[in-house]
Amino acid sequence: MARFTGSVAALAAVLSVAAAGSALAQGPAVDWKKQEAELLKHHRALIQIDSSSPPGNETRVVDYLKKVFEAEAIPTETFALKPMRANLVARLKGNGSKRPLLLMAHTDVVGVQKEKWPVDPFGAVLKDGYIWGRGSRDDKDKLASNLMVMLLAKRAGARLDRDLIFLAESGEEADPEGVGISYMVNHHFPAIDAEFALTEGGGALIENNRVTSVKIQTSEKVPRRFRLVATGTSGHGSVPRLDNPLTHLSAAVAKVGSFTMPMRLNETTRAYFGKLASISPPDKAQRYRALLGSEPSGDVLSYLAQNEPEHNSMLRTSVVPTILKAGVGPNVIPSQAEATFDVRALPDEDIPQFFAQMTRVVGDPAVKVEPITTNLRPVSAPSKLDSEMYRALEHASAALYPGAVLMPAMSTGATDMAQLRAKGIQAYGIGPPSTQPDTINYGAHSDVERLLESSLYRLAEFTWRATMEVAASK
Ligand SMILES: [Zn+2]
Repeated sequence: MARFTGSVAALAAVLSVAAAGSALAQGPAVDWKKQEAELLKHHRALIQIDSSSPPGNETRVVDYLKKVFEAEAIPTETFALKPMRANLVARLKGNGSKRPLLLMAHTDVVGVQKEKWPVDPFGAVLKDGYIWGRGSRDDKDKLASNLMVMLLAKRAGARLDRDLIFLAESGEEADPEGVGISYMVNHHFPAIDAEFALTEGGGALIENNRVTSVKIQTSEKVPRRFRLVATGTSGHGSVPRLDNPLTHLSAAVAKVGSFTMPMRLNETTRAYFGKLASISPPDKAQRYRALLGSEPSGDVLSYLAQNEPEHNSMLRTSVVPTILKAGVGPNVIPSQAEATFDVRALPDEDIPQFFAQMTRVVGDPAVKVEPITTNLRPVSAPSKLDSEMYRALEHASAALYPGAVLMPAMSTGATDMAQLRAKGIQAYGIGPPSTQPDTINYGAHSDVERLLESSLYRLAEFTWRATMEVAASK
């Protein structure tokens, strides 16, 4: 980290300021052992409400939360485009000297194939130190943890420089009608307007029973889609034609599908690969460091494309064919054939220029590039790495996970932070600690989603520490 370079005296000064800063920033003291039962109760109760979308029925989750807030005299408001897909906002007032902090978590979950689950997916079963169930880590852990932070701040009578806004939003997983974050941002933005936001999207890695790294999501790729449409003359299969759309489309799909956009790092991915190199075994570290140089070798890039596809996707705008549609019968030449492509653009990609480039790559007047413009997430600039919130997350990590390396991350998928960032909110994705096998085999959207019980408690404490550092009056 740049600020730890320089003389020993300067280093000591920085360290003592950091220590004093974090001591000041604790807010009211919390006995975390004593909060576990209540936190677990809320987490389990939230999992037990089936809010898989579609249809969602998130209002049932909202009703639960509302009751809990009302019992503690915390005012709430609900905002619903569709009656059963409501969003809930709760607010603790600060003195207004700083702009609010938004604690956000979504209330819907993805559906389940019940027969594939070893336990009841909506049972919130406790087994082997885990809480099992749909939503246990996506996203009812953040929902319960944010709820707990609000309750604790209220009970402790915390004096706040900023309002704490709690948002439970619907329709994160599936929202064709725009009932969730889009509805809140487009129609009720004053209710959630904030300087900073914390929500899902990050995480922490457990190796050999300790947290070794913490990921904070500060940026995400921008989803875009397009179709290649080839047109020609229809006719009988016995009479070959040079303008057969299947032939033209296939050639175009092959060209676009094997085309790679140039590699480009941004502040987030540069910091990410640098930090990752510092905690990786030598061969991996060498490859990550090569990415930071001016021209990484083709060997490094093809190794990543082959073996670390997610890292490869972080390097460039990706273009992936996902659907082919053509043909009506084995003896019929159709007049049209089309292919759909999923594009995940780097946050600073020039989209119109990108589509113009695709047309050049195709290089065939019989095949048109048609952008798909429905349900677009907005383009959003990365959140800052030198903000008060990011520093607070660094301090929370240092206090809770000593020795762990904290790194910013750009996710290849999209989240509700896109809408917030597009409105200028500095949004950061956090998450509970998890082992790699758990993340791979028992992760979000899997048939056996589960969360370490201890990770729920650590997530809440992590969120509390970061929240109090930026919001508690000094
Ligand atoms: Zn989620």
